[in-house]
Amino acid sequence: MITPNVHYAELKDSYLFYHIAQKTGAYLAAHPGAHLYRMGIGDVTLPLCPAVIAALHEAVDDQASGARFHGYMPECGAPFLRSAVAAHYGARGVRLAEDEVFISSGASDELGDILDLFDRSASALVIEPAYPAYVDANVMAGRRIVRLPSGRADGFLPEPCPEAAADLLYICSPNNPTGAVFDRARLQRWVDFANEHGSVILFDAAYEAFIAEDGLPRSILELDGARTCAIEICSLSKTAGFTGTRLGYTVIPHELVRGGMRFQDMWVRNRTTKTNGVSYIIQKGGAAVFTPEGQRQIRENIGYYKRNALILTEALDRLGLWYCGGRNAPYIWLRCPDGMGSWDFFELLLREIQVVGTPGEGFGACGEGYFRFSTFGSREDTAEAAARLTALLGGR
Ligand code: PLP
Repeated sequence: MITPNVHYAELKDSYLFYHIAQKTGAYLAAHPGAHLYRMGIGDVTLPLCPAVIAALHEAVDDQASGARFHGYMPECGAPFLRSAVAAHYGARGVRLAEDEVFISSGASDELGDILDLFDRSASALVIEPAYPAYVDANVMAGRRIVRLPSGRADGFLPEPCPEAAADLLYICSPNNPTGAVFDRARLQRWVDFANEHGSVILFDAAYEAFIAEDGLPRSILELDGARTCAIEICSLSKTAGFTGTRLGYTVIPHELVRGGMRFQDMWVRNRTTKTNGVSYIIQKGGAAVFTPEGQRQIRENIGYYKRNALILTEALDRLGLWYCGGRNAPYIWLRCPDGMGSWDFFELLLREIQVVGTPGEGFGACGEGYFRFSTFGSREDTAEAAARLTALLGGR
């Protein structure tokens, strides 16, 4: 009889958002017709921008034309999109060769798939609180996980330390769930640490487009020495509203070599074996994001979410609750009031004001006592949630 991958049995039972859905479902069953102010899951609500929609329509018409029809796309990505991404980095001073850019169906897919490049004996460092997929993808592969807790004292941006030594280092900046962003000096210390230890950083840049302050690194490849230790995984999901359309990209520098093997070559081999590329239509839509018109339009959408963040942080300021994030990230990470546990605070908000957020405990043990608000909701819901929060907690 075949032996299943027994590591699946080691996965934590109920996934965070499944648990939240169960609790909100039970509330709605008991209160039919109630409106919930959903500030929990990080999914966008604004539609794709007009430049992307026009490009998608055009690409559909191409597929209806004998002369312009496209069959299989190159496995590593269409040259027009790989070069558009490389040019986008170039405009920010990061020189990339076109073949260092790989087009993907999104960051989630890549964060799981990229692990094919590393031996199963490799250990993985996860800075907690963390996006749950980092842990789960490595548990499934049977890897040893090194957890580095972060907290208010270090601004949720821990320094490298001997306990953080691992083969793979996950760094997410701007961070989900905390909204914290590594500045250049702090990130440089992680790059130096990775080079000293021969580790590889998996840099999750899914929220880079939300960085508002000048001088904060949007790509790890802006830093000295990153080309010998980092893979960058990015996505158009939050940058341009592609959560349901699916498109991302991964950058693997040529100089990233371990044990005499070049990861860029290995990934070409992997992709040409395991995928047949991303749809032509979607890649055309994605390329429109990198045009001047597309960039202007996605900025407007990001500005809308940033305004939501301001509405919420102003309410938290008035309430005197500690938080971080919101400024350079679409997430606000707050300390639950009066020493409450994060699931208790979740229940309180659901029961009293019908606001749904995400309990910090779901992102790792050190997230207990914290709570995440997403700013991807509608303006109306966000403003009402902020008003309800103020009314509920204002009299404390
Ligand atoms: N990385 C982080 C930190 C995320 O928060 C998310 C989605 O919420 C992803 C990756 C996955 O993004 P994608 O939609 O590109 O799969």
